[in-house]
Amino acid sequence: MKAVCLLSGGLDSATCLAWARRQGFDVYALSFDYGQRHRIELDAATRLAEAMGAATHRVAKIDLRVFGHSALTDDIAVPKGRNEAAMSVDIPITYVPARNTIFLSFALAWAEVLEAGAIVIGVNALDYSGYPDCRPEFIEAFQKMANLATKTGVEGLALRIHTPLIHLSKADIVRLGTELGVPFGLTHSCYDPDATGRPCGQCDSCLLRAKGFAEAGVIDPAA
Ligand code: ZN
Repeated sequence: MKAVCLLSGGLDSATCLAWARRQGFDVYALSFDYGQRHRIELDAATRLAEAMGAATHRVAKIDLRVFGHSALTDDIAVPKGRNEAAMSVDIPITYVPARNTIFLSFALAWAEVLEAGAIVIGVNALDYSGYPDCRPEFIEAFQKMANLATKTGVEGLALRIHTPLIHLSKADIVRLGTELGVPFGLTHSCYDPDATGRPCGQCDSCLLRAKGFAEAGVIDPAA
């Protein structure tokens, strides 16, 4: 069985890739060069796909800077040093408008070409991310739409969207990744690394990652 697995190069998507392999899927890893602030996560994705036995890895080039309006795709500063209360108040400025809808649409197109019955995405509804396109109801709606949208769907190949992390805390994800043998040292989570690729340690993504590793009692080899 084939699965298209969205792979950002971060901890969550790497754990999803390992989960999909453990489920017995042949994994077709998909990353996006979407105009993000840095390419370090794409290098991480390439290394992870290779190290973790993906059947193949493609990078789709799309430019979300054409709309901007996110700290990840526009000239807007990445928030630093926020506590959990501040992170959970609003949808953060690092939210990229409609990103998961766009990414899943690309994954759907590839799944149809591959005749794959599964897409795996590392969305997570906990840990203060506050992203509307990480909620279970969004994923359910997209799956329903996907099965109406494609030739393969109409012909009876049902597509399922798997979200193995959706109800897990960051610590749970670290525990699952540890159990699955994810090479954490190859993953990259920081929104705003320095020129050499070192994580800033202060953005929401760095802080949540550090908290997850600390709570799981695991040393982060990438920190
Ligand atoms: Zn950071």
